Amino acid sequence: MRLRSASSADTRAIAAALAGVLAPGDVVVLAGDLGAGKTTFVQGAAPALGSDDVVTSPTFAIVQEYAAGEGPGATRIAHVDAYRLQRVQELHDIGFDELLDGSTIVFVEWGDRVASVLPDDVLTVTFAIDFDAAPDARLLTVAWSGDTWRKRANALERTLAPFTGTGDA
Ligand code: ADP
Ligand code: MG
Repeated sequence: MRLRSASSADTRAIAAALAGVLAPGDVVVLAGDLGAGKTTFVQGAAPALGSDDVVTSPTFAIVQEYAAGEGPGATRIAHVDAYRLQRVQELHDIGFDELLDGSTIVFVEWGDRVASVLPDDVLTVTFAIDFDAAPDARLLTVAWSGDTWRKRANALERTLAPFTGTGDA
């Protein structure tokens, strides 16, 4: 699906909506150039998942974890940035495998670079800056793979339909 965002607020709103179809164990790959909006996306998704934690770029930490909610509905959120990784092995060193144990919703900026260590089931959001439109315009392409997403494809489509945009450009 191709979505349009006209502002960082739009990108956060798209992420908040998409959060509604996410469940622990999901891996969301965020791809696209520096400044395209990957971190902004997590800043929209995390509060929608019930987190009060401040979301910043984990570029230097490589992984940050956020708490989301309490009680039975609680989930954990991991926010990974693969930008500075020299080798995929570094992800294992920081305990990435444990993040894939099914308890956590994992967002991976530059996840397209570490596809070899990701599960088969991933949701990928690719951000492109739309230079032909406004400086704040972004094109988001949402794609999924795997059985868990096949089952949710309709729900995903319904959720994102309001953001597909029609009309000009
Ligand atoms: P990335 O993590 O992809 O490097 P960030 O989310 O950190 O990107 O930064 C995106 C920058 O672009 C922020 O300064 C944000 O305010 C700005 N911006 C402008 N328009 C948008 C948009 N439509 N979506 C997301 N960010 C936008
Ligand atoms: Mg970032």
